[in-house]
Amino acid sequence: MPLAWVPYADRAEAERRLNGIPAGLELDFYRADGDELPGSIDEVAFYVLPYMKGPAVLERAADMPKLQVVQTLTAGYEEFLPLVPPGVTLCNAAGLHDTSTAELAVALALASGRHLDEFARNQPSGTWRFAFGRALADQRVLIIGYGHIGQAIEHARQEKLIGNTLEARVILNSDSDVTDRIPKEELEEFFILSDLTIHRADEPSASVTKTPYKKCARCWRHRPTVGTSKTHPDLCDRCESVVAAMTKSK
Ligand SMILES: [Zn+2]
Repeated sequence: MPLAWVPYADRAEAERRLNGIPAGLELDFYRADGDELPGSIDEVAFYVLPYMKGPAVLERAADMPKLQVVQTLTAGYEEFLPLVPPGVTLCNAAGLHDTSTAELAVALALASGRHLDEFARNQPSGTWRFAFGRALADQRVLIIGYGHIGQAIEHARQEKLIGNTLEARVILNSDSDVTDRIPKEELEEFFILSDLTIHRADEPSASVTKTPYKKCARCWRHRPTVGTSKTHPDLCDRCESVVAAMTKSK
């Protein structure tokens, strides 16, 4: 019978929070709030780390001999790296919090521009010290760190034809041999692109249009192989092989 750990105190809480528990599923309970790891620790194959509990949740990875995949719920993964056993795949959650984090960044920029922090500090003493703030509208905004979240911030600011570089088809005419020496997939990964074509040319140039490829449900990249598989029509070839490997090793 498949076994799942759930982040609740006991079966009654799990039933209440999950609106019932699917039949044929065995449960163990682990909240990562100081409670003991379940006795089934040596059965764990796929470990979704408890959210925002720090790297301590991986300290007993050595007691998980069947462990194959560690999945974080954060985009950041560096603090877990030293604790992931050799041969175990570490997956991070890049993209999961883009929208909400971008929203937070825009909210803080708005609040800071309008001095809401100063008004809040003056409120307990009943001090009314009005000061003009600054609107975000019509400002030139510098986004430092233009990864997934930086792009989502920009997206939150203005709708564009291509909201996300993963939807872009980029044709690069390159006069550098760097693009010959580095594999295309690595370049796509580095530039956070799905659909990159590189030609050698005497004059460097680039063109950007919207990719015609469908979006993979797992990696969110637009790839030509999405829709070609019978078993996983929503996945790209790379993600399908990952999923197949995980299913086979069960
Ligand atoms: Zn994929």
